[in-house]
Amino acid sequence: MLFGIDLGGTKTEVVVLDPKDGHERFRSRVPTVKGSYADTLSTIRALVAQAELACACRAQAVGVAIPGTISKKSGRIKNANSSWLNGQDLLNDLQRTLRCPVLLENDANCFALSEAMDGAGQGKAVVWGLILGTGSGTGIIQEGKVLEGLNSLSGEWGHNPLPWMDAYEQELSRIQPCFCGRQGCIETFVSGTGFEAEYQRQSGRQLNGQQIAQRLAAGEVAALRTFDLYLDRLARSIACCVNFLDPDVIVLGGGMSNFDGLYQALPARILNYVFGGEFDTPLRKAVHGDSSGVRGAAFLTNAA
Ligand SMILES: [Zn+2]
Repeated sequence: MLFGIDLGGTKTEVVVLDPKDGHERFRSRVPTVKGSYADTLSTIRALVAQAELACACRAQAVGVAIPGTISKKSGRIKNANSSWLNGQDLLNDLQRTLRCPVLLENDANCFALSEAMDGAGQGKAVVWGLILGTGSGTGIIQEGKVLEGLNSLSGEWGHNPLPWMDAYEQELSRIQPCFCGRQGCIETFVSGTGFEAEYQRQSGRQLNGQQIAQRLAAGEVAALRTFDLYLDRLARSIACCVNFLDPDVIVLGGGMSNFDGLYQALPARILNYVFGGEFDTPLRKAVHGDSSGVRGAAFLTNAA
């Protein structure tokens, strides 16, 4: 059995998959106790114990999807927005707690791995998975393995600057710097948060993505303008990755992936920006939705 944990900012989830077909044998989720590292460890231990009991088997290894990454220099967590994890020796602490090998991986990489194994990227050699949610994480899977990178930075596309910015976007990047400390990061434009901020600028109203989607369907001018700007920014940003990586499939996840209009409109826009004027890459919605992170974590143990 494959045991996976998704250590999210709001919920912590366990899943047990059958290694033969990826069929789900058990799943449970609990709210994440924010701010306490000790509680993080005890929550994971309790979830794994619950799963072991339910499946009547002992975990041989546990894969864990984490926000942020492990520093290759220190072995400790860095870049996690669940800030109580940063600087912690999570790998060794979990291995001691669970008494089995543990594999930690960035949550966007787990998302991409899940979709590559038995989701929208199944059968493709190079899968680029993008989560367009509160932030914008991406992961690259090559032949069923996460492409880590020497600095554990592969897929950190969201912290490159938005390509071909116009004067309005340059001004925005000055007044809304990214949390990473730089200006004009792709994430600040193409995340769901960036989309909602643009709608607020266009309309003067603060609404969530779902509410904006309803206004878009009703043909509201501010929503149409916001979506048009969003499409163009996302197309430019994706085109840069296509020019560099040229993946075999692009899989979208996170809240923005639920805008069905993306899949019709984006390919023609991307074509405007790729080098050489040819773009045939399939652009697909994630099959496993917000379960991809925990499923990908479980698949880490399969590859181990
Ligand atoms: Zn940034």
